[in-house]
Amino acid sequence: MLSANSRAVTDFPPRWTVFAVLLASLACCAADPAESQDPYQARRERMVEKDIAGSSWGRTGVKDEAVLRAMRTVPRHKFVPQNLVRAAYADGPLPIGHGQTISQPYIVATMTELLKLDPEDVVLEIGTGSGYQAAVLAEIVKKVFTIEIVKTLGEQTQKRLEKLGYDKVEAKVGDGYFGWPEHAPYDAIIVTAAASHIPPPLIEQLKPGGRMVIPVGAPLQLQHLMLIEKRDDGTVVKRAIMAVRFVPLTGGGTKQ
Ligand code: SAH
Repeated sequence: MLSANSRAVTDFPPRWTVFAVLLASLACCAADPAESQDPYQARRERMVEKDIAGSSWGRTGVKDEAVLRAMRTVPRHKFVPQNLVRAAYADGPLPIGHGQTISQPYIVATMTELLKLDPEDVVLEIGTGSGYQAAVLAEIVKKVFTIEIVKTLGEQTQKRLEKLGYDKVEAKVGDGYFGWPEHAPYDAIIVTAAASHIPPPLIEQLKPGGRMVIPVGAPLQLQHLMLIEKRDDGTVVKRAIMAVRFVPLTGGGTKQ
């Protein structure tokens, strides 16, 4: 009696139904493989179209195709805390713990575009944070070096980048004010924390013909995103691009 019952349970639903459901699910996935592989792809497309490439609110919109492709590719939801995954593709900064933030997508894209990157470039980033900006850079260039001053955050992010397969990124914990002289000079340098002044060691580590973007200004006050170009003859040209708000660059060099 017992064995008859148990056979009845395991036989339900009938085998042909299971087969039909399996076939239907295969048909569903074959129709839209991209969607089934990454359900966030559509949200990234919308983010790029609406908030990054589009010109509105006085924005010109990011045009560099390589940057737009990178923004469509990097899974931003994997760089934000679990409880904020739903806000990952909104155009705003988000807290990532340790009093730090992941920058707004439009700002990430604009700063990346200003660097005028080439696939053969080697880039230095100061302020690894979540690793998102480093991942965006890694989609475009040959090699990315990134430095984070908060040890636990830096170590946690190194693991994340490894797990996601970003092996073009080399990360370390340290004070980025002094750059990373061992791998200098760099084709481009990006600082993602606001400095009171442009750190001279970073200018030094920039290649002639190279570009640097850095927010300059007092903490939590109006800061200017500066574009610095080092000409082939070594002269340095600075240009203010737009008003921004970043967490402060800390560390030894900023206390002078
Ligand atoms: N690029 C990051 C956002 C970084 S927020 C992202 O994509 O998520 C700025 C980061 O700069 C913070 O994590 C902060 O701890 C770090 N930082 C501040 N001063 C620094 C310094 N002197 N050297 C290296 N990192 C620094």
